[in-house]
Amino acid sequence: MKIIADLHTHTVASGHAYSTVNEMAQEACRKGLQALALTDHGPALPGGPHLYHFGAMRFIPAWIAGVRILRGVEANIIDREGSLDMPDSYLARLDFAMAAFHEDCGFNDQGIDNNTEAVLRAMRNPRINAIAHSGNPAFPVHLEKLVQGAVETGTALEINNSSFALSRSGSRPYCEQLALLIARAGAMVVVGSDAHIAQGVGEFGNALAVLEKAGIRGEQVANSSYKRLMAFLGLEEAPER
Ligand SMILES: [Zn+2]
Ligand SMILES: [Zn+2]
Repeated sequence: MKIIADLHTHTVASGHAYSTVNEMAQEACRKGLQALALTDHGPALPGGPHLYHFGAMRFIPAWIAGVRILRGVEANIIDREGSLDMPDSYLARLDFAMAAFHEDCGFNDQGIDNNTEAVLRAMRNPRINAIAHSGNPAFPVHLEKLVQGAVETGTALEINNSSFALSRSGSRPYCEQLALLIARAGAMVVVGSDAHIAQGVGEFGNALAVLEKAGIRGEQVANSSYKRLMAFLGLEEAPER
């Protein structure tokens, strides 16, 4: 399986990441990717960008260095009702929106039942395309319910490459179990590097190993073909510049 787009990356705008949009795009080109999603953290994360950062993403060209740039966000789930730190009017302007749990954004781990309720509600927001690092042991959820919710809402579950190396230690057993459930239920998946510097763009080796071990098929992975990705996101092709 080949991943043609990195759907989880952070630029300097996140406040704790180290490369610019142009540097990330150049690296995506070098790695042979066809698309790159800029998914800086939502405004509730300490040091994260102001809402206006997302409102102004129209200034970013649709293509840089031959790579299709997707204007995105990794929004924060901020309460048990699954509210996000970004209003729908802002989400509507983006190409790709993920929701995720992060500490210090208003909703710390509230136990498996409340966490599950919150993420299921966030998935019911039709503007949310995917749940980022969905097998995060710091925010345990009922994995069967998560996968069922993903199938019902058409939301993808992210298998995040950094979870097996640099972030969220202890993720592997959760993610492996989650991947098996995803394979069985036929839920959609996205693969992301979660790069916080250009060198990390397009690094998917650990995540791909987990997908393969679980038997997840290419047609379940939204970013395993450019055509599939555009169809999954309901995007029209932008003229190349
Ligand atoms: Zn995250
Ligand atoms: Zn991230």
